[in-house]
Amino acid sequence: MKRMVIKTLSLFPEDIIIFITSKVWFVSSFEDGWAFTLRGDELKRNEFLIFLSDELLKEDEDQIIWTIAHEIGHVILGHRNNIGLPQAKYEIAKQEREADEFAKKLTLKF
Ligand SMILES: [Zn+2]
Repeated sequence: MKRMVIKTLSLFPEDIIIFITSKVWFVSSFEDGWAFTLRGDELKRNEFLIFLSDELLKEDEDQIIWTIAHEIGHVILGHRNNIGLPQAKYEIAKQEREADEFAKKLTLKF
């Protein structure tokens, strides 16, 4: 997992790499879904957790990089995923579209 996270991060400009490496924790082994991002409200303010499942890590490299970039997109774009505060479906769908756009822009570079 570490190798894939580093490979994805290496696609970003340096300021984003510094932000992500100081504010985001990557955690693996999660059974429900491929990956998700938890905003820091429930942790320390302004820190984030990105979960990457074992299932995701069995996928091909492009898929893994896309998914990590998508999750980083949620962080950079300031999306919320707050436990105990359910979001409207349209809001979730909008955030997913934005994170997909973010990942697309990044992964078009290679
Ligand atoms: Zn997402």
